[in-house]
Amino acid sequence: METEDSINPTNCAICSSLKDKEAAFQKYGWEENDTFLPAAYFQLQEVIDLKPYSSRKLKLLQCPACRTYYLYHSDYEYLVNGSEDEEYLERLTSEEATQYL
Ligand SMILES: [Zn+2]
Repeated sequence: METEDSINPTNCAICSSLKDKEAAFQKYGWEENDTFLPAAYFQLQEVIDLKPYSSRKLKLLQCPACRTYYLYHSDYEYLVNGSEDEEYLERLTSEEATQYL
């Protein structure tokens, strides 16, 4: 019988290159210090856009290979000397993902 625990992200080519929690920061005018989410993030598929009209994004994403869910959220801060973008990606259990579905 298959259980939740049988989902092992390290067996998946996409998920194995993502940590349980990822974060990236970009600051306008300070590009040399910018960090970005791993390339594997771009392979995830969007399931629901939970805040389609907000500049602060909240999205439920899913790995197309192993069906693992991820929560993506971003924050945006406007500063006089340039704006700051923050992005977060968090791996969810299917139970955690259910509350967004
Ligand atoms: Zn995966």
